[in-house]
Formats: sequence, C-alpha cells, structure tokens
Amino acid sequence: MDEVDGDYVRTVKNCVFSRSLPAPLRAPVTLAAVSKSVIEDILDLDIRVTQTDAFLHYVSGAELIPGSIPLAHRYGGHQFGYWSGQLGDGRAHLLGQYTNRKGEIWELQLKGSGKTPYSRAGDGRAVVRSSVREFLCSEAMQALGIATSRAASLVVSEESVWRDQFYDGNVRKERGAVVLRLARSWFRIGSLEVLSRGGELDLLRKLLNFIIENNFPAIATEDPDKYLVFYSTVVRETAHLIAQWMAVGFAHGVCNTDNFSLLSITIDYGPFGFMESYDPNFVPNTSDDQGRYSIGAQADVGLFNLEKLLESLQPVLTPSQQQRAAAVLKGYAGLYQMRFHQLFKAKLGLLGEEEEDGNLIAFLLKMMEDTGSDFTMTFRQLSEASVQQLHRGGFTQVTWALHDLSSHQLFSDWSRLFLLRLARQEGDNDEDRRHRMKSVNPRYVLRNWMAESATRKAETNDFSEVVLLHDVLGNPFIAQDAAEDTGYAARPPLWGRRLKKYGEL
Ligand code: AMP
Ligand code: MG
Ligand code: MG
Repeated sequence: MDEVDGDYVRTVKNCVFSRSLPAPLRAPVTLAAVSKSVIEDILDLDIRVTQTDAFLHYVSGAELIPGSIPLAHRYGGHQFGYWSGQLGDGRAHLLGQYTNRKGEIWELQLKGSGKTPYSRAGDGRAVVRSSVREFLCSEAMQALGIATSRAASLVVSEESVWRDQFYDGNVRKERGAVVLRLARSWFRIGSLEVLSRGGELDLLRKLLNFIIENNFPAIATEDPDKYLVFYSTVVRETAHLIAQWMAVGFAHGVCNTDNFSLLSITIDYGPFGFMESYDPNFVPNTSDDQGRYSIGAQADVGLFNLEKLLESLQPVLTPSQQQRAAAVLKGYAGLYQMRFHQLFKAKLGLLGEEEEDGNLIAFLLKMMEDTGSDFTMTFRQLSEASVQQLHRGGFTQVTWALHDLSSHQLFSDWSRLFLLRLARQEGDNDEDRRHRMKSVNPRYVLRNWMAESATRKAETNDFSEVVLLHDVLGNPFIAQDAAEDTGYAARPPLWGRRLKKYGEL
C-alpha cells in the first residue's frame, strides 16, 4: 500500500490501495434495514447490537470500527469495450477484513461513504434508490444460490445528493445512503489490468500471489503453473456464474472488467434488471444505448472480459503457459453451454440426458420469446402445475404466464414432447418432479417495479417494503402469504411496465 499525495489524485502508480477516510453523511441518519443472516452468520453478532448507536455510527461511516484503516482500491477497467485507464473505488471504503467463527475471511466495505483519491468528477455518494437496489438484490441473489457480494445494512440520510436519475436532463435532489457490503474479496479483473498495462509487474505478481494465497486455497503457492491454474479457475467459474444469471433471467447491466470479480461472484449492483417478458435483447441499463450488455450478450461479454484478463496475465506467463491459457479460453464457450444446459434441464425437471433435451429447452424459450411470456413465472408455473393440468391445458389468470405461453400455436406440440419426456423418467413421479422444479425456479425475483415501490416508500422514511422484500426474496422458492398479498408473483402492474428504465448514477 502506498500513501497518495494530496486528497483527490487522478492517477498514481505502483499502488493497490490508498488510505482514505469515509466522510459521514450529515445527520440525521436512519438505519433502514439490516440483513440478519449477514449480521449473525458472517459477522458473528447478536442481531440486537444493530439497534445501538455504535452500530449506526459504524455502518454509516461516522465512526471507525476499532483497528480499521480505511482504504480505497486502485483498479482500472474496460468500460463498454474500451480501456478507460485508472478508475478505482470512487465512492467505497474498504474497512478491513474480519475472520469469523467459521474461519472465513470477509472484507467489509462501505459504499456511498464519500470521496476517495479515485472519485474523479464524482461526489462519492450513492442515492437511496441505488442503495435499496444493491441491499435487496445482493441478498436476493444469495438466496437464489448465486455467488454474490453480501449486504449487511442500509443507512439512509437527510443529506442531499443531486442526480439525473433517469437521464432525462432533470437533475433532482435525492437522499444519500450507505450500504455496508461484504465479499470474500473485492478484487476485479480491472485490479490486475491497471498494474499490467502500467508495466507495474512486480506489484502485479505480488497482488496475484496475495489473491491466490488468500482466495484460491486449491492452488499451491509453489506451483510453477499457479497463474495458469488461477486463470483456468476464473474462466470456469465465470462461465458458471453467467449461466446462473441466465437461469434466473438476471442482466447485470454494466459488465465492464472493473465490475467482474476475480472470485467470479456477482459484484457492483447498479442498473441491473430481472427480465420479465422473455427477450434475449433485454437491456436493463438506460445508458446502454447499443445494448452491449443485453441479457443475451452476457456470455459473449464474459468471453471478452476473460480475454482482457488473459492480456493482463501475459507478462507473468511463460510462452508455453500463454499457449495453454489461450486453449483454456477456447474452452470457455463449451463450459458455458454445458452449464446453461444443465441448469435449464433442472428448470424443466429433466433427469438423465436425452438427445432432444437441448431442442426441448430452445423450443420453449422460442415460444416464450414469441409470446412475450414472463420468464420467472413460466418456469414457476410449469413447476407448480401437475402433469394432468399441463395435459389438460386451459390455463387461467391464476396461471397467467402459462396462459400467455399457451397462446402459441405450437404450445401443444411442445407440451406433448415435454410430458412424454417426463413420462420416460424412470423412478420419478410427479410430486418429486414438481418438488425438484420448485426448488430451482423462484416464485419471486426483484422486479424493477418492486424495487421502485420499496424505494418510493423509503424516500419518505417508510422502510416496510424494503424489509418485506428482503424477507420474501430471502426465500424465493417458497410461496409466502405476504408476498401474494402484495402481488409479487402476479402479473406485473401496468405502472411497473411503463416505468422508465433505470440508469445508475
Ligand atoms: P460503476 O459503473 O458503478 O462500476 O462505476 C465506474 C467508476 O465510477 C468506479 O470507479 C466508481 O467508483 C466511479 N463512480 C461511480 N459513481 C461515483 C460517484 N458518485 N462518485 C465517485 N465515483 C463514482
Ligand atoms: Mg464498478
Ligand atoms: Mg456501480
């Protein structure tokens, strides 16, 4: 770690972190929500401590946790396909590491906690909307079984932050907020890129060694191929992660290399979105005019990002390792497709492997696209319906997604193939099949309108919907009365469909 001269330096060399103190939001600040599982199971705390003033001071950045030396991380990145040079934590402070009772090391970070040496033109702040979304979505992803950073708390303040939230030219006064978030490591592809491109090769090796030693226990530190093995692991896990995103209809929104974790966890929740009507061209981010990060492009973008990672590793690989690494990258598409296939087979309750399984999946997705059927609820309602119901057809408003899907002229052909395929599964029965499918097809995901509704209330200090959504999305595979009353599994409301898309600022 190096000290940086001056407060707000644009570019520095030979450093990975700079010391930087959080700038607390002006009082009054309110603790809007906490995540019980993070507090108890990761931080080993009694949930009651979250009601203390000390806790509020720590998680809002007003006071430092004893022993903490807050840092901002220097990284670079390719943004929308182009090298942007140095970026870095512009509104986040790493507070330190915590080793919990289970022996896991977690890195604690505040987001929205003020300017750092890497803030550039930014104000170091995050608004309520983006903070509510990050708080809810990271916990929702965890519950969906997808590797992700976690969120411990959400603090909202009266301090004003100015944003053109909808890119409509109207700057509005919004309220600032801070999220305490955690990850096993916050290093990104861009963490290595900035060192490699700057020729800071000693530091590149040092950082790689640190990451491998701390976060890749399966790789021996004395292995001469360790950087190659590291690369292969990132390639494989990134393929798996993106396939998982696709299996829940998640579009990250800003898949720049600075937002792609070296641990292949989902990080940096900004203008993400869960796809509603099935559409491979779904783009959640208003400012992504070209649709570079559409949901259907994510697998290819993963490849691009892994190419950039390989470029930054070139200086530390031997010529033979470079060749092998290139071969590893060639295997990425196959790994992704294999994982995608496995996940979608599970979504349809299929056991074993039959030649036509890929077609059965593609056929269904094509019908969903043609009919604009809701991605989440089509799979969920296929999971909840009995074979008899599927056979009979005649779906109602209760089974609204299947009602939409079955308007397709080929639906009965598909359902005949599907039911025959299920019938051939030895040792299976319909109850087991439905149970299996319901455990992988969520009934609730964080739809844009839900996040918006919770945000609007949060803006008036009513955090009830943030808390409700946090609870509901913590158990996305189980039908819950409170969620049904609020329409979270119902056809999205009209106002929700008319909502402007979200662009993070
Ligand atoms: P993102 O698109 O969220 O990954 O952000 C890209 C870069 O811009 C990162 O270096 C962020 O830290 C920085 N950034 C985004 N918003 C702000 C802000 N309000 N203040 C300072 N830096 C910011
Ligand atoms: Mg980022
Ligand atoms: Mg961001």
